[in-house]
Amino acid sequence: MYCALPSPARSFSRLAGAALGTMCGDALGMPVEGWSAARIARVHGRLDRMLPGRLAAGSYTDDSQMMIAILETLAQRGGLDPAYLARRFLARYEPIRGYGGRINALMHRLAAGEPWDRVATDSWGNGGAMRVGVLGVFFAKDRESCRAAALTQCRITHTHSRALAGAAAQVLAVRRAARLGSKGRAPAPGRFVEHIAAQVENLDAHVAGRLRAMPPLPLGDEAAAREGLTRAYACDVSAAEAVPPALGAFLAARDPEQAMVLAVSLGGDADTIGAMAGAMAGAYWGLEALPAQWLEALENQPLGRDAVLELCRNICDENY
Ligand SMILES: [Mg+2]
Repeated sequence: MYCALPSPARSFSRLAGAALGTMCGDALGMPVEGWSAARIARVHGRLDRMLPGRLAAGSYTDDSQMMIAILETLAQRGGLDPAYLARRFLARYEPIRGYGGRINALMHRLAAGEPWDRVATDSWGNGGAMRVGVLGVFFAKDRESCRAAALTQCRITHTHSRALAGAAAQVLAVRRAARLGSKGRAPAPGRFVEHIAAQVENLDAHVAGRLRAMPPLPLGDEAAAREGLTRAYACDVSAAEAVPPALGAFLAARDPEQAMVLAVSLGGDADTIGAMAGAMAGAYWGLEALPAQWLEALENQPLGRDAVLELCRNICDENY
């Protein structure tokens, strides 16, 4: 089990920012999951409000549900205990949230009593990355613990090197966002991308190469970023094609709203790309910078916005 080193008090804002940023991006993208960027633009214009889809407006999907299980593990165990986390994944599992077929099968194996380290498949999907962002804030002081915890939680469900490298890239991007944000420093895109790519190179060279394929990202130019990112990346359910555009949306944005609007506008696995960009943006700008109308619209009962804020408070009270 990996435990965090003490972090600055300000981390509550960044932990809750990463958690609710994940939920906001997830809920914003939910109604357009699987759509093309062109269809989203044609039907919704600039998608900047919570709309109903296969779930009610403001509902989160599997991405946030699994993130909540990670937060519960941090709150109850003080670190990333994978056996406990696997039980939380199962306890929180609601198929209606939109889990992939492999995860549905895996949950049945966990329910049948198989151990957490025997049920994963060799998937290169983005499932290990979509839920991991909060660990980047929790382990903000210690990069090696951060990376190790991200890989461990990924291995419960995904063991392919691309999935592991994607989870590592996502958690290290959130960690870097939290650290730069706390120092008031701008995340220079070129240096940021190279910093992350270099750290996942030894896990999977393909994922590092896909990060380095990042197009130019003129700050605040949504149209240019959308065109560049959709040309560079498939934005699909693979870790290698979903984590880089999420990072690009964050790096191109002037604020959290723009990061998430841009991320979901790319289409494809829109809820997950939105969730990952939201985690980075929330960690960088903090809870207070998330759009109030989105927080208001977020699902809140029984395990929604307020319960997640309470979990984040408990984690900070116990560990920071
Ligand atoms: Mg989802």
